[in-house]
Order: sequence, then C-alpha cells, then structure tokens
Amino acid sequence: MSEPAPQPRNTRQRTAIREAIDASDRPLGPQELLEIGRRDVPSMSLATVYRNINALLEEGAITKVELPGQPPLYESAGLKHHHHFHCDKCGRVFDIEGCPGNLKPLLPEGFTLTGHEITLYGRCADCA
Ligand SMILES: [Zn+2]
Ligand SMILES: [Zn+2]
Repeated sequence: MSEPAPQPRNTRQRTAIREAIDASDRPLGPQELLEIGRRDVPSMSLATVYRNINALLEEGAITKVELPGQPPLYESAGLKHHHHFHCDKCGRVFDIEGCPGNLKPLLPEGFTLTGHEITLYGRCADCA
C-alpha cells in the first residue's frame, strides 16, 4: 500500500481551476483554464476542465460570461457590477470598471428595466 496523497487529484484539479478564475482580472475560457491548471496538475484534460466548470457553476462559485457570437467564458461570482471589453485582434475579453449608469431614459414608455449588459469592442493595449 502506498501512502495516501495529501489531496485527491480531483480536489487538486477543482482547486486549480477555481484559483485560476479567482486570480484572473478577466474572464477565461476552457482552453486558457487548461493551460493554467496544467501548471498545478500536468495530467489535466479538457474534459476535466469542463466537468469542474460545471461543478463550480452549480456551486455558484463562478458565473458564465456570454458575449454574442463567442464561446462562453467564466469569472468569479460576486464580482461587483462591471462590463466587458472584447479585443477584436487577440479575442481576449477584459473587465471594465464602472458603468454609464442611468439607462432608463432609453426605455420605451411603459417598459421596466431589470438589468443590462454592455460590451465594448476594440483593440487592447497589447494589440493597439
Ligand atoms: Zn488584444
Ligand atoms: Zn452597468
């Protein structure tokens, strides 16, 4: 009998993915999470990344960022209200602090506003 590992591999993989998302200042996709996760757990597979993403979504630890025409990205749950910037060149999505605020005047009469999402497009500093 070999010594038990200090942490089961499943837990290490879950922790690695969660920490990658929590440490990032922008939403990440499964391929990026795989690259970061493999620094901790070199045997990690893309299927494992997807399985853990789904588990973390169910736990409410992370949320999905869905931009039109883009595969979903993931970020920590509980971030304060913010918006996103999509770089047309490298395809990365960045968090933008702040909000233009009062959008109610845009509504047709009789409509009620329950939320909004704003995505800006352009070139990030690396690509400009
Ligand atoms: Zn870029
Ligand atoms: Zn806003």
